[in-house]
Amino acid sequence: MLRDSFGRVATDLRVSLTDKCNLRCTYCMPPEGLDWLPKAQLLTADEIVRLVRIGVERLGVTEVRYTGGEPLLRRELVDIVARTTALDPRPQVLLTTNGIGLARLAEPLAQAGLDRVNVSLDTLDPATFKQLAHRDRHADVIAGLAAADAAGLRPVKVNAVLMRGVNDHEAVPLLRFCLERGYELRFIEQMPLDAQHGWTREGMITADEILERLSAAFDLTPDDLEQRGSAPAERFLVGGGPARVGVIGSVTRPFCGACDRVRLTADGQVRNCLFATEESDLKTAMRAGASDDDLAARWVAAVARKRAGHGIDDPSFLQPSRPMSAIGG
Ligand code: SAM
Repeated sequence: MLRDSFGRVATDLRVSLTDKCNLRCTYCMPPEGLDWLPKAQLLTADEIVRLVRIGVERLGVTEVRYTGGEPLLRRELVDIVARTTALDPRPQVLLTTNGIGLARLAEPLAQAGLDRVNVSLDTLDPATFKQLAHRDRHADVIAGLAAADAAGLRPVKVNAVLMRGVNDHEAVPLLRFCLERGYELRFIEQMPLDAQHGWTREGMITADEILERLSAAFDLTPDDLEQRGSAPAERFLVGGGPARVGVIGSVTRPFCGACDRVRLTADGQVRNCLFATEESDLKTAMRAGASDDDLAARWVAAVARKRAGHGIDDPSFLQPSRPMSAIGG
């Protein structure tokens, strides 16, 4: 098992399939993009599936989420998903995507056994989308969402990050849009993970502010407080339910004490926290001929070192040197 020294057990594996992205969301990377990892450093599809298999068969991983960068840019994605859903025991297999290309890929992904998707959508306005993501692709995201729903990847979850003065007036319209279509919306507080180091506490729209805005238009009641478990989102019934909305207060309401996540970067590094400053290099060990036992032991040791919390509020907090796109969100 992947148990840390505080007794938390990691069962939720997030795998970045590429650090590349076709959007340039301001909270993530600069408009000119980043220096992408050289191809030789990326794990191959076989290497990814081998590490995921070790996680699932030997280390108790029950949920595998493919992310990035933008995972739909990875050509072998459908094959990787099919090979993951064929593992025994079969993990839940999920995808976090910006939705561009999902109109074409939702059906093949569903056929490969993908269970669900989270699609990022921060605005309903194409002009704001272009300002925020530096690309004119709003219509592709909307089409991707509809295709995911039509392919049965339900409930389709939508992730939104609000930024002051940019899209923070859209909390209510975004929720309305999702309620009308049966999508489950989750707002995520903006975290200090952008490559430009432009995050400020004042610029962040907090969970309290989000809830205040939503409460002005909707009747919200806390849902499943006892059953929240390791889920990052605090969920609320809208209008008595069954529709729900989630708020992920990563910064102001951290859930580190219940965290069950571990990450594998596109270049084969295990990270025990989004905000970790250390990584454990499974790729080099694997390419040097390490056995499954050896890789599993390195992985166990990497998780054992996990810190109690992300420490954003500590005076000594250091933003990780890799941005969210390279870590795998
Ligand atoms: N490209 C995919 C996408 O857009 O969903 C997957 C990777 S992206 C890094 C995963 C999620 O992280 C997205 O929902 C994105 O909005 C969120 N994200 C990126 N940078 C963030 C930040 N600084 N704070 C909070 N969420 C962030």
